Amino acid sequence: MPYKHEDNAFEYRTLGTDGLACDVCGKPIGPDDQVAVCPDCGAVVCKDCCEDGRFDEHECDEWGDMDEGSD
Ligand SMILES: [Zn+2]
Ligand SMILES: [Zn+2]
Repeated sequence: MPYKHEDNAFEYRTLGTDGLACDVCGKPIGPDDQVAVCPDCGAVVCKDCCEDGRFDEHECDEWGDMDEGSD
């Protein structure tokens, strides 16, 4: 097993669902595509954007807590 990098430590996960798109580039996310989810705002960012260092380009609204779920 290679040593695990601690920099750039996105936790990639799959969503298992269709219908979402990357919050940065707008690419449709498939159920098996690896994405990172922003812990602050819940934005979904595709792996390509994360590896390009563009994770911070998504619009991150810091609500504090997410009790106001009007969409
Ligand atoms: Zn993207
Ligand atoms: Zn965010």
